[in-house]
Amino acid sequence: MHLRFSAEDEAFRREVATWLADALGGEFASVRGRGGPGDEHAMLDERRAWERKLGAAGWIGMGWPTEYGGRGLPLLRQVIWYEEYARAGGPGRLGHIGEGLLGPTVVAFGTDAQKRRFLPPILAGEAIWCQGYSEPNAGSDLANVQTRAALQDGAWVLHGQKVWTSWAQWADWCFVVARTDPGSERHKGLSYLLVPMRQPGVEIRPIVQITGDSEFSEVFFDGARTDAENVVGAPGDGWKVAMGTLAFERGASTLGQQLLFQNELDEICRVAKENGAANDPAIRQRLAHAWMGLQIQRANALRTLSRPERAELAREAMITKLFWATWHRELGKLAMDVLGPEAEIAAGAPYDLTRLQRLFLFTRSDTIYAGSNQIQRNLIAERALGMPREPR
Ligand SMILES: Cc1cc2nc3c(=O)[nH]c(=O)nc-3n(C[C@H](O)[C@H](O)[C@H](O)COP(=O)(O)OP(=O)(O)OC[C@H]3O[C@@H](n4cnc5c(N)ncnc54)[C@H](O)[C@@H]3O)c2cc1C
Repeated sequence: MHLRFSAEDEAFRREVATWLADALGGEFASVRGRGGPGDEHAMLDERRAWERKLGAAGWIGMGWPTEYGGRGLPLLRQVIWYEEYARAGGPGRLGHIGEGLLGPTVVAFGTDAQKRRFLPPILAGEAIWCQGYSEPNAGSDLANVQTRAALQDGAWVLHGQKVWTSWAQWADWCFVVARTDPGSERHKGLSYLLVPMRQPGVEIRPIVQITGDSEFSEVFFDGARTDAENVVGAPGDGWKVAMGTLAFERGASTLGQQLLFQNELDEICRVAKENGAANDPAIRQRLAHAWMGLQIQRANALRTLSRPERAELAREAMITKLFWATWHRELGKLAMDVLGPEAEIAAGAPYDLTRLQRLFLFTRSDTIYAGSNQIQRNLIAERALGMPREPR
């Protein structure tokens, strides 16, 4: 089954491309291609302003229902947006977690009051969100969350630690999975709380990554507070909501991501031709293999997206994360081998990495976040192949 774009879709594509070319040509020309993995610290003020510009023009929450301020556009239109955004060199999105994860979660599980309060600032490009799931002893095993929260005087009061929280230092809000039933275990007794980040009970300690940036942080809650009504779903029923959020990861943005991958592969091919690496038979083989992997990803994405009603359950969707993450990590290695000795040289002090060097370093994490490769294989074994659950 193939995904087809109608004449109306193509007209929409032209509208998007024209808007992006115009918007990224003027005062925002400098943010073109900046931000994103390994470059998240770049031009924060400008990228915040860019978020507001996107919001004002109605390019955020395009798939959200119109009654909540979205445009209710079908999946294909969203795919077109992400493709054109990548093609135009749109900057890494600071609002991605709010738009892609928290917003759809509030739409699906939130109260009317939560929808009225939390959705408009995301749509306007004003609110930056981060995701407070992982803890030192709860990563792959998320049900082991130890951060606790209790109701006191009309507010949830939180104690505990999160880790690897992307964008924590820039975020206004965090969605936190916390244990609210004392003595509960595993998936039971957890709640999904919306917590303001700028308050005395929240301490953020950025973690320096091998790229030299600190895209993620440790987050300590020591008496942090949030209003009693800021729980999504019923108190104690947060596991269901937390899993609902994970189901929103990627989806329409997949094809845009593949265009970014294509841009990276194009750059590696260009370098290989320029510096002679393309004459090395082993490098040529690997370049061809990388290109094949990209075609397979595109075919699989088109097949999955053409049946959106089944996408989350379809077996073919289950291989997506494992495939792209492994492919992308190998692409990072290939980039270094194409560069040869130059790959090890950094300019500036302390050092300034090139795009391909950042690619190599950041892609080391692709096979860890959003479900590690080992966890993905376990899921495929259990859910796609019907193997018994792994013993604990
Ligand atoms: C760049 C980056 C950004 C991130 N951003 C966020 C964020 O914004 N918010 C957030 O909450 N978290 C974030 N994370 C955390 C991420 O979700 C976790 O790193 C991930 O879930 C793995 O958990 P862990 O690091 O605790 O490793 P562990 O779960 O301790 O795993 C260690 C190793 O053991 C393997 N392993 C674990 N369990 C099994 C098993 N049952 N079977 C086989 N192998 C297993 C894993 O695959 C891994 O190789 C981010 C991580 C990275 C790298």
